[in-house]
Amino acid sequence: MSEKKTVERPEASRQDALADIDRLVAHEVPHGVDRRSFLMRTAVGGAAAVMTGCAASPESATSKAVETSKPAAPPAAAASAPPLAEDLHVVMKSKGPILTTVDEFYKVGPGPSSSHTIGPMRITYDFYQRATKLPAEQLAKATKLQVNLFGSLSATGKGHGTERAALAGLIGHEPATVDPKFLDGLRDKPDQVFPVKLGSKSIDVSLKDIIYDATKGDFKHPNTMTVKLLAGNEALLEQEYYSVGGGFIEWKGYTPPKKNAPKYPFATMKELRTHADSNKTTIGKIMLANEMSISGKSEAQVYEWVDKVINAMVATVKSGLAMPEDDVLPGPIKLHSKAATVYKRAMDDKFEAERGIGALSAFALAASEENGRGHLVITAPTGGSAGVMPSLVYGLLEVRKMDRQKIREGMLAAAAVGYLCKHHATLSAAEGGCQAEIGVASAMAAALIATAHDAPSLVVENAAESALEHHLGMTCDPVAGYVQVPCIERCAFGAVKAWTAYAIASNEIASRHRINLDETVAALAQTAKEMNSKYKETSEAGLALSVVLC
Ligand code: SF4
Repeated sequence: MSEKKTVERPEASRQDALADIDRLVAHEVPHGVDRRSFLMRTAVGGAAAVMTGCAASPESATSKAVETSKPAAPPAAAASAPPLAEDLHVVMKSKGPILTTVDEFYKVGPGPSSSHTIGPMRITYDFYQRATKLPAEQLAKATKLQVNLFGSLSATGKGHGTERAALAGLIGHEPATVDPKFLDGLRDKPDQVFPVKLGSKSIDVSLKDIIYDATKGDFKHPNTMTVKLLAGNEALLEQEYYSVGGGFIEWKGYTPPKKNAPKYPFATMKELRTHADSNKTTIGKIMLANEMSISGKSEAQVYEWVDKVINAMVATVKSGLAMPEDDVLPGPIKLHSKAATVYKRAMDDKFEAERGIGALSAFALAASEENGRGHLVITAPTGGSAGVMPSLVYGLLEVRKMDRQKIREGMLAAAAVGYLCKHHATLSAAEGGCQAEIGVASAMAAALIATAHDAPSLVVENAAESALEHHLGMTCDPVAGYVQVPCIERCAFGAVKAWTAYAIASNEIASRHRINLDETVAALAQTAKEMNSKYKETSEAGLALSVVLC
């Protein structure tokens, strides 16, 4: 019989825990603050402090509660998300066929967030390219480059390292090729100054030129930013941009690029599946034919890109698992890495099924922790969800040793699911909460697993539907604005749920599956629209409010 261990509980020394709550909960309601909201928030903060053993002062509890209780917004505005401007391409205006391609969709870049690091870096790099094309006499007058971040980029940008990503793009770094050590160096030595060569002029830029501006306002998109080239107070070039999720960017006056027609046009899963079934082929092969006709690439060229993505996913899991167990992720949460520990202990489990679940979780934790470190990740569909797909790719390819060709087709089927969610709903947590990131990633992963197992197209759809359905309503509330809690573990849950979805879909009678993917994507869009804006990557509610950092 094993010896029973005595677990020391930090709170055991406390004589009267409820007295602590009472002490931490402020009772004086400051002027101009909604009383009910204020008392509730101090109570949540106080209770969390006692439960976690973090003794926040009554003053800090009060100031945090005031911050999150005011201003007393009109009820209608408080209940709904800010509307998106109608002229953004991200807002679905036509029911035309999907024209997204894999090289646009799966992007390699620095974590931790495709919308808050890869998008802003692409934006400032785009601006830098535009600025270099200005006439020489204009460039000769330039004195300053300035970036202003708004909305969610401003509210949670500090935790994501948005200012470092924006500066890197401004000085000519691209997301896919930037050395993560360069970004780490900016974090460790934030006062560095870099010369930006524009024609004959050299302009010094530093993190001071990236400004965290208004978090609330009448923005076209929650992730809005402006970039300016100035001559004194005069703007020589100015552009308003939007980081619309998944690393995609748009700007004021944006029109989508012209592309060739797809061989098998589809805008819904029903249409996509009809193509596959009537041609007696798979969703993956239909997607390959479309990739080739839209982009003009050969089959080998399409698979060359898919292989790069697969290899990068495997590499990110490997590098995450190789990190020492006592590694601490950057930021105020001081979160310890656990991927290696979970993996090693799971491998020791005597039950095979538990080994599988533990290993899959560890692979997801590994890739997601790499994202938390700001290292290179692959958007599938976003940085926050960057642990989900890699865990399955690694598990199927490196552990199960499945045929690479099956994984390639699975990647294309997964992309189709991501495209449908982008086309009819959103991939942006700032628009739709975490259901749009981890939910979509899990649905994509379910399609990957089913395709890799040669499942019929209906089973592929059912698996994706099921995974997405059981993430609907999931909010985004990263603690302290860092893509770590709940994000890293959430990737593990997304991966395991994807496998559960496949297990159900491949064992049920497929034709009896009651809900189709198109219906669930519509529910994703509707839920995104009606979700309270506090739960859309603002770090103003949920865990971001209740977790007290010591
Ligand atoms: S909570 Fe979800 S959506 Fe929000 S940052 Fe984390 S992973 Fe992304």
